[in-house]
Amino acid sequence: MNVWEQLETEIVACRLCPRLVEWREKVARERRRAYRDWEYWGKPVPGFGDVHARLLVIGLAPGAHGANRTGRMFTGDGSGEFLYRALHAVGFASQPFAISRDDSLTLEGLYISAVCRCAPPDNKPSPGEISNCLPYLEREMKLLTGVEGIVALGRIAFDNTLHLLRQGGAAIPRLDFAHGANYRLGESLPWMLASYHPSRQNTQTGRLTREMFDLIWSKARELLTEGE
Ligand code: SF4
Repeated sequence: MNVWEQLETEIVACRLCPRLVEWREKVARERRRAYRDWEYWGKPVPGFGDVHARLLVIGLAPGAHGANRTGRMFTGDGSGEFLYRALHAVGFASQPFAISRDDSLTLEGLYISAVCRCAPPDNKPSPGEISNCLPYLEREMKLLTGVEGIVALGRIAFDNTLHLLRQGGAAIPRLDFAHGANYRLGESLPWMLASYHPSRQNTQTGRLTREMFDLIWSKARELLTEGE
């Protein structure tokens, strides 16, 4: 078993947060009517993508009937539709949709992870649950040695990613979260680009439009090209 397989095995078996274990399994047992024929994943969701990625995308947590159903990040719900359409448009994703773990989707130069691997009630993991889960992201970040930039989806991903980098010894000042904010974090550190999270709450209210989201990914492409 290689280091990635080892990490994935540990993540999928994790039961550290009792509230989230109970919730993810309850959702998987009860299912949404539209998915009553699905066998829900109902476990923590590991990272997904290219282990040689130059770009790391960090989200919040699996959706109850999305990644918690399909077992792959941002797969099977509205957030994923919004994300993968945009990633495909700039060539990071092989197709503009993600419906199941065997839908042939591959990512090119990009890896997707999250600060919390279990679906939380109301999409809100507690600070304690996030801190239980962050060591998995920390381990992925150490393994992803080619990463030049990070796109943080939402304030919680932004703050916790900076927290991990500071914990690792980086002297990063206090930074403000704003959609489109782009920060150089320092020598030998990745740059950071902040985006609103493509949650239904944001996309259906117009807080995050397709145009706004597309600009994030074209900016990410531009920053990667500058670094070549
Ligand atoms: S949220 Fe993370 S730490 Fe908590 S049970 Fe799930 S995988 Fe484990």
